[in-house]
Amino acid sequence: MTHSMPSLPYGQNELAPAMSGETIYFHYGKHLQTYLENVNRLKKDSPFAEHTLKELILNADGALLNNAAQAYNHILFFKNLTPQPKPMPYMLQQTIRFSFGTEKAFREEFTKAALNLFGSGWVWLAADECNRLHILALPNAGNPYTHGMTPLLALDVWEHAYYIDYRNRRADYVENFWRLIDWESVERRLTKEDVVLFW
Ligand code: MN
Repeated sequence: MTHSMPSLPYGQNELAPAMSGETIYFHYGKHLQTYLENVNRLKKDSPFAEHTLKELILNADGALLNNAAQAYNHILFFKNLTPQPKPMPYMLQQTIRFSFGTEKAFREEFTKAALNLFGSGWVWLAADECNRLHILALPNAGNPYTHGMTPLLALDVWEHAYYIDYRNRRADYVENFWRLIDWESVERRLTKEDVVLFW
């Protein structure tokens, strides 16, 4: 199987000003496309030719692992954004309260993890096998699957994710990220409707 570009559930300019059309053009249109092209090139004629991205994350190594994880991470990141966020659905809200105490405590811990992650990486909301939620700050192409958890929400803190719109101001980027989250999509992943599983 080869991996094609996922469609976006919004237009290129619809997330502006929190995330500009220029950032979507480069981040989705160039970075993600390159990761997918690398995966397709590296897996072809390898024992991993029929693996999904999740299977590659769990079984491959080296450049194939890094590119498959980056492809997966970006697809999840972009699919979880929306120009018209709705309030958090009840089940997700209850699960967050059960895991972190309050929604505010979750947001503060997640934001702190994003600001403290040194260099390039990803901050995740992930569910363990008992559906208790955790915040993971993982360097480079890190993904919760390799920590035995299901990824629910991803925040890209590589500089390429925010440098066009925010230059070096990662804190402003993270603050605006909270205005773009499609919580219904996050909750669907909690119930295992994994949009990236078969990509
Ligand atoms: Mn990125």
